[in-house]
Amino acid sequence: MRKVPAFFLALAGLVPSVLSADGGKVTKLADDVYFMETQTEPEFLGCNTGWVIFDDYVLVLDAGFPLSAKIVVEEVRKTTKKPVRYVFDTHYHGDHSFGNGVYVDLGATGVAHTLCIRDQRLKNPAAYKANQESNNDLERRWVAGAPWKDATIGFDSSMEFSDGKHRVVLLHYGQAHTAGDAMAYLPNEKILFTGDACVNGAFNYMGDGDSENWIKVLESLQELDVETVAPGHGPLAGKQLLQTQKNWFVQLREQVGKGVADGKSLDQIKESIDIPWYEKWTSKKATDQIPNITQVYNELTGRVPPAVLIRDLAITAGPSPTKDTPGWTAPKKVVIGNHSPGQIAALRAVAPDVELVVARTPAEAAKLAVDADGVIGFCTADIVKTGKKLRWIQVLSAGVENYVTIPELVKSDVVLTNTQKVYAPEIGDHALAMLLAFTRGLRWQIPHQTSESTWGLPRGFNQSQFIELQGKTILVVGLGGIGTEVARRANAFGVRVIATDPKVTDRPKYVHHLGRPEELKSLLGKADAVINCSPLTAETEKMFNADAFAAMKPNAFYIAVSRGKLTDTDALVYALKNKQIAGAGLDVTDPEPLPPGHDLWKMPNVIITPHVASRSEPRDERMWLMYRENLRRFAAGEPLLGVVDKRKGY
Ligand SMILES: [Zn+2]
Repeated sequence: MRKVPAFFLALAGLVPSVLSADGGKVTKLADDVYFMETQTEPEFLGCNTGWVIFDDYVLVLDAGFPLSAKIVVEEVRKTTKKPVRYVFDTHYHGDHSFGNGVYVDLGATGVAHTLCIRDQRLKNPAAYKANQESNNDLERRWVAGAPWKDATIGFDSSMEFSDGKHRVVLLHYGQAHTAGDAMAYLPNEKILFTGDACVNGAFNYMGDGDSENWIKVLESLQELDVETVAPGHGPLAGKQLLQTQKNWFVQLREQVGKGVADGKSLDQIKESIDIPWYEKWTSKKATDQIPNITQVYNELTGRVPPAVLIRDLAITAGPSPTKDTPGWTAPKKVVIGNHSPGQIAALRAVAPDVELVVARTPAEAAKLAVDADGVIGFCTADIVKTGKKLRWIQVLSAGVENYVTIPELVKSDVVLTNTQKVYAPEIGDHALAMLLAFTRGLRWQIPHQTSESTWGLPRGFNQSQFIELQGKTILVVGLGGIGTEVARRANAFGVRVIATDPKVTDRPKYVHHLGRPEELKSLLGKADAVINCSPLTAETEKMFNADAFAAMKPNAFYIAVSRGKLTDTDALVYALKNKQIAGAGLDVTDPEPLPPGHDLWKMPNVIITPHVASRSEPRDERMWLMYRENLRRFAAGEPLLGVVDKRKGY
């Protein structure tokens, strides 16, 4: 929960503002394990809280507001003299984490998921101040008498507190109520403190959530052996509450989704929601849950940024002009490619004030660009020349070598966006598939299977050709979208991943060493496989030449999945023939297509696929989401996703 429902605020003025221990109802759940259900009516005093008494300290589960934290501290004192050492924030919202300061004053330390801490640092100082200076008496009382403190111990997937008697496992299953949600699970006592990932009553705030993933998180929680659910708000419950909470999101998504598909407006959808059991659960009508319905509608119609682009692929926004840029005006016309009527309707919905005109060819796009503000799907010199008002071009590829060589475009102020990272997951799969086809001998066994139909290995196949990846070193050249996905996958195979990149300086945790391009030569000699994921620029053309292959180990494989021109083909053929390297997996070649009769076709230690690594069905969905999201951003004057540095060429 984040915002307090207006209902509570309306009542707040009528009720005397007396703070007492009545603000909470304490239940002993098990030996040394307590739960306090915090009052929500008539005054909303914050979130539910728990505490676990370990051998030599107390762990508090959810900080609450300072107001409720002080009540909790009094209640803890009634159960133990041991010091409170840690306070766990289930997420960054004020009613769950503003109370940190109360605990820090007692010598305790805040613990939270790293994304919770990120959001706390980003958003909470201002939110705290707003509460302190609020005109509303209750909002001021929530935070009175304590400073804002963020959590300072972070974890990524899980963290455990244990003294041999009690165990508390903090778990993160991805974005549910917020990006940094975490839960506290007590396996011995079968108790789950859920934070706002699961609430008991009409407390769901969905504005920081992702309802699709939220359902998956609840399903993961259902896998746990749980008897008692201590929700973020509302009374204690059994495990069934997880299903109830899930049903709300599942049915809401189904019904809103059907309304969208039927072409209904949001107002029509609001009235059509029919989930009668919701009222029994929460004593509120489903049709009254306007923010929830609106949020799901916004998610399903692209009015909130698609989580798969922002959260999963970490595509960043800008730099590009926004509505805050001096001289910015709202765009009026954007040229788009040919789409189905349904898709065009969906694009109109996210940019209602922009005229969308359809071009079928680049020449048509150039004509229409005369008075257009943006063009999606086409990029030629003519378009830039005729488009005097043009501010934005979205291309549908990740590589932009054909565009950043258009002088008119590079010189202009037109922002160029590409589909960087949208293709990365499946290309990452493809690179690893090629490598595994060599290391597990599939390159030779599959032809043998079809030609011989006999049990056994191909003639000449050597036991030493069975290689395991565990413990090997893989060099990823270029740690952009594709390189990142390759590195992440390789890491999961127990590989030591090293990488080079000219731009990325923040070493991801699945990369052991991140070097600059100047280091490439020395790193090549360390790698058992080299996966080339670089973009094609003047600097990278033919970067894999005779010198590079000579620097590689003779048992190493070379995999190319981004652009063919990065590889000097003659040098590669020479290296393969002379056993300077063990094999090559090529989804891209130079020339491309590779002509019939080329030496590479006949080599037993080469795998060639015809530039198909970027193909997959979810890829098309991601492309569409990127296209729609950038149109929404362009129309709204928000920074665009996937902005290309036109001078660097990627
Ligand atoms: Zn919340």
